[in-house]
Amino acid sequence: MTQNYQNMASALIHGGFSNDPWTGSVNVPIYQTSTYAQRGLGELVGGYEYSRTGNPTRAALESLMAELEEGVAAFAFATGMAATTAVLSLFHAKDRILISQNVYGGTYRVLANVFDHIDVQFSIVDTTDSRALENAMTADVKAILIESPANPLLTVTDIAAVASVAKKYGVITIVDNTFMTPYLQQPIRLGADIVLHSGTKYLGGHSDLLAGIVVVNSHALAEKIAFIQNATGGVLQPFDAFLLIRGIKTLGVRMDRHVENAEAIARYLQRHPAVKKIYYPGLEEAQGHHIQLKQARNGGAMISFELTEHYDYRKFFSAVRLVTLAESLGGVESLVCHPSTMTHAAFPKELRDKIGITDGLIRLSVGIEDKQDIVDDLEQAISFAEF
Ligand SMILES: *Cc1c(COP(=O)(O)O)cnc(C)c1O
Repeated sequence: MTQNYQNMASALIHGGFSNDPWTGSVNVPIYQTSTYAQRGLGELVGGYEYSRTGNPTRAALESLMAELEEGVAAFAFATGMAATTAVLSLFHAKDRILISQNVYGGTYRVLANVFDHIDVQFSIVDTTDSRALENAMTADVKAILIESPANPLLTVTDIAAVASVAKKYGVITIVDNTFMTPYLQQPIRLGADIVLHSGTKYLGGHSDLLAGIVVVNSHALAEKIAFIQNATGGVLQPFDAFLLIRGIKTLGVRMDRHVENAEAIARYLQRHPAVKKIYYPGLEEAQGHHIQLKQARNGGAMISFELTEHYDYRKFFSAVRLVTLAESLGGVESLVCHPSTMTHAAFPKELRDKIGITDGLIRLSVGIEDKQDIVDDLEQAISFAEF
């Protein structure tokens, strides 16, 4: 492909679609259609026959995402969980998938309560420890599924190290790249076979849509996911595909600002006497900080923290004003959530305790508001929470 650009910031704006051949429209039209007229039996006009199988607006998004993640092909789904479900549909009864200790609660839930119906097995492994990972590589393992930094403790896993273990044993590496986006981290370049996204988060960026993306790095996987996408049907609608493309155009400028704010807020929280623990891979002292800087552009914009025993986290959540108490992340607005009762409620309590998702853990998705306004709001909410 000949392109008029070299860098990600331009690819975000120009990737996947170049002006509509009919009108010159600089944006992809919303092809709000379920079906396509055929000239004769088997004679398609533009290669499309039914929108579950393919739709030009969705196709523009899919080729944009394949380009950004440097994959062979991409597939757009109705939600991140529909994308995850499509990927998990690659596996059969008795296959085993290794997952990181902290992954998105919904990923755990679909494995533990849906894929267990067809006897797909999974084990939770500390993927930051390559010896633990190698020890878990039994003959039934077919894939390793990781997030880095992972949800909600921002645990950093060395993606290249995991991919090299996976290659040694002939299994595939799946990386949920939702927290980083291709602007900050490109797992396929680090050896991953499949990249997953909840497009609902940073890619869309405005908390106004749900979407999921699968990117694959081989033709064989592309064929399988295309089959599963069409067969199971959880596709993204044309209007949402358009909105997601529109969101991605500003991903670079948004991420730069998200990260600038997050770095300032992490330093503020780190110094704060009310803060007992802080998890942010952009801090020098954080677990995996050097691996993070090796494999990603910076620490991203998700921060988790705990207040000391002199503060009541419930009061903190009820006192935030600019920062909104809500599920989700990655939008322009700052959000806080309570992982143990919200995003990770699907994890059994013993598992939450074991991996450090305490009842007092607060997860903050740093938005792109003025950073002093965010700090001021956190400050007043922390003061209010004091016993
Ligand atoms: C939100 C999220 C998902 C699920 O995506 P939905 O669009 O909500 O279905 C998967 N992985 C991560 C890391 C997420 O944050």
